[in-house]
Amino acid sequence: MAEETVFGKIVSGEIPVKILAETDRVLAFPDIAPQAPVHIIVIPKTTAYANVTELAAAEPETLAEMITVAQQLATEHASGEYRLIFNTGAGAGQTVFHVHAHVLAGNLEERTLVGA
Ligand code: 5GP
Repeated sequence: MAEETVFGKIVSGEIPVKILAETDRVLAFPDIAPQAPVHIIVIPKTTAYANVTELAAAEPETLAEMITVAQQLATEHASGEYRLIFNTGAGAGQTVFHVHAHVLAGNLEERTLVGA
């Protein structure tokens, strides 16, 4: 089990967020510090996985569901085209160790990088 993170507190309701999409396994909400016109965080509700590599190995169907939700949100909030980023490891800019996808969309600059 991963240590409790801010995203774990969002799943439990301890930290309130505007929920943009929800399924049995997945939750999506706006990033608190957006780096693009549309910047949405998509997470699995489980707190068991720190990063996308762990999730892909253990629950590939949950990862696929996150990507389906990302596409739906990009279609709903932008043109349907989007950038999907999984920072993996502190050295790559990961600060929250509950696996999450950044969905970036809407007039992206050529070199928009999350955490840069
Ligand atoms: P990472 O750097 O781990 O890939 O991304 C973590 C992201 O979570 C950052 O973009 C940061 O702005 C976002 N974030 C951190 N704390 C909160 C919070 O309490 N609420 C929301 N909505 N986003 C958060």
